[in-house]
Amino acid sequence: MSTNPTPANGKIRLATVWLDGCSGCHMSLLDTDERLIELAKRVEVVWGPLVDMKEFPENVDVTLVEGAVSSEEDLHRIALVRSRSKILVSLGDCAITGNVPAMRNKFGVDAILRRGYLENGTLDATIPRQVIPALLPNARPVHELAPVDVFIPGCPPSADLIFSVLSELLEGRMPNPAAKFG
Ligand code: SF4
Repeated sequence: MSTNPTPANGKIRLATVWLDGCSGCHMSLLDTDERLIELAKRVEVVWGPLVDMKEFPENVDVTLVEGAVSSEEDLHRIALVRSRSKILVSLGDCAITGNVPAMRNKFGVDAILRRGYLENGTLDATIPRQVIPALLPNARPVHELAPVDVFIPGCPPSADLIFSVLSELLEGRMPNPAAKFG
């Protein structure tokens, strides 16, 4: 699935996706601080929480994915994102292992919904069946549902590590896969 991520104009089309995560991995990306200015010269952000687009675009060079795959909506989204991204990066431990979202797995969906919406409900305690996406039986790491090219570990990953991986990709190099254990 991997191809050289650096297009001819030198700017990569970058997307960031937020599945079942707390946004901490995105915060860590922002924590690269003034290096964001350096990145902005070489990156076009085409999708993410701050991009006002209705549909995930085609021909994305690099997509960072935060969070586990926990719902039917996540499942649909990761398939679409994978099909439109040259390089898919699992950003953070929730994407890589399931981490915090996977803590629910041993209890089962029914027990989780009962606990969240009925036992801890205050006003009008009911389990919503139509508005929220249906949960999958388990929260799962991204690579179990779609091939992942690069792993950036941590909860959250450090800004230095995220910047280092992006810098490698901008130079047209695939980061060392061993970095996923680093
Ligand atoms: S890895 Fe940690 S910081 Fe990132 S989404 Fe999961 S819980 Fe939040």
